[in-house]
Amino acid sequence: MGLFKPFFFIFVFKFIIIRLLRGVFMTNKELADLIFPDITWTIEDYEKKYPNREVGSGYVTRFAPSPTGFVHIGNMMQALTDYFLARNTNGIFYLRNEDTDTKREVDSAVDKIMDVFEYVGFKPDEYEYRGEIVGNYGPYVQSERKEIYHAFIKHLIEIDRAYPCFCSAEELDVMRKKQDAKKVQPGYYGAWAKCRDLSNEDRAARIKNGESFVIRFKSMGNPNRKIQYEDLVTGVIEFPENNNDMVIMKSEDKLPTYHFAHVVDDHLMHTTHVVRGQEWLPSVPLHIEMFTAFGFEIPKYIHNCLLLKQDNGVRRKISKRKDPEALMEYYVEKGYPSIAVIESLMTILNSNYEEWRDNNPDKSYLEFEFNPTKVGTTGALYDLEKLDNISKNIISKMTKDEVYDALYKYASVYDQEFAKIISENEEMTKAILNIEREQEKPRKDFACWSDVRKSIWYMFDALYKPETYEWGKISGRDDIKSVVDLYISKYYNENDDKDTWFDKIKACSTELGYAANMKEYKANPDAYKGNVADISTVLRVALTSKSQTPDLYWIMKLLGKERILARFEQI
Ligand code: GLU
Repeated sequence: MGLFKPFFFIFVFKFIIIRLLRGVFMTNKELADLIFPDITWTIEDYEKKYPNREVGSGYVTRFAPSPTGFVHIGNMMQALTDYFLARNTNGIFYLRNEDTDTKREVDSAVDKIMDVFEYVGFKPDEYEYRGEIVGNYGPYVQSERKEIYHAFIKHLIEIDRAYPCFCSAEELDVMRKKQDAKKVQPGYYGAWAKCRDLSNEDRAARIKNGESFVIRFKSMGNPNRKIQYEDLVTGVIEFPENNNDMVIMKSEDKLPTYHFAHVVDDHLMHTTHVVRGQEWLPSVPLHIEMFTAFGFEIPKYIHNCLLLKQDNGVRRKISKRKDPEALMEYYVEKGYPSIAVIESLMTILNSNYEEWRDNNPDKSYLEFEFNPTKVGTTGALYDLEKLDNISKNIISKMTKDEVYDALYKYASVYDQEFAKIISENEEMTKAILNIEREQEKPRKDFACWSDVRKSIWYMFDALYKPETYEWGKISGRDDIKSVVDLYISKYYNENDDKDTWFDKIKACSTELGYAANMKEYKANPDAYKGNVADISTVLRVALTSKSQTPDLYWIMKLLGKERILARFEQI
């Protein structure tokens, strides 16, 4: 009994002290409940709601743009990488709308993205569009995931890895200026992080008092220590640890910042590979610290290179303000076949793609074996001339019917006058499009559908109103007339085959004092006024007003006698 007494008193004493302290000190859990009184789901509940995906070794990738109302060609390259990796490995490709920055948001932005996806033929496996959610890991719009983020932030507050910060914009501005003047690391850390060590009681009092606050992540990092991180593109990189207490929840709308939303979403949606622009590389230490704070597996990262443009001898970033080709709309409006855009981006994404393409001309790009170490680590030159060449090559391999259908589809949206004209002359249009096509070495003249009208307008009477004629060596009116008159009266016959037609042009040339072939002309140039090419040029320009056209024989065949006579009359 004598021994029992002191234990009894110690027990009662401890009980009273704890009770008293509880009244004075506030636990993190109590603070978290005060900030998020309505959040009842825990992170474990969400883990259960979004279980592991059954994709085996397939990659889970996402395209996660901010809804700014345009799709930059650099974003397209990321989307292509995402789509490609998922399709190539039988994985999942999903679309997530990162709309937490409401200041930059544009209403029709998702429509724009879906339009671009339709253009390039990317169908996401999971997405949210016009209120419909497809997939079990949604919502796929960040502003609709607020409760989820709050549950995860609540958890961080409970485990002492996040706290409310009451610093005003002005205070932060003063802090930044002081840091600037002292030339020290900018940010909210160490002695600069004024709200980091407030007591929970102070915090609670200020919250109850209606002060506005953000939530900051409480970093445990030390920049004197290094972390190693392996990017699939750059390989292993060493970074100083993050020590910046970054904002993870904003005050006005209580939405998370990109850094936090990315961690939560890519975890819950089970993204295996995060593909994004190189501008996010410096944030990697922060992201790794957050994944680690939750005990989550860190996804693999592919930081794609920036796209550059050669401008007056200097390489600079492609800019949406200066360069129309920076936006995907440009390609849609010009009428590039989307596969040409994809192919040109693939050549940038992997340095061995072109070689593979040369060896496998008929395979789909999706069969290519992507190697992230072959992605450029610095900027890559994005070259429109190269795109044109790729596109010309692709179009040259299409049949006349394929070209006609694609052209008509394009023109029905972007050039209705032309759509009407070609549909009223469908057979002739196909025949025009077939000049030097569907043969072993086809003509490579169109890079995009808007090129077609510019190149064949003169074949349609409705459009044939030449303002100028691109005459060549023979440009005097009388000389032109004498070529045309002799040819039409003595040599032209609409039923001639190609060889006879050409023999007659040669004969006409000889009669006019021009060499019938180049060899004769070169051997004795002084003996002639010129050569057969000069005569053909006169006929070509007289009929089309252009000096460059597809094969003249076919142009004459398709124009027919009546129109030929009428056009000769016109000059
Ligand atoms: N919303 C971010 C952006 O548009 C996405 C970055 C990412 O893909 O993680 O830059």
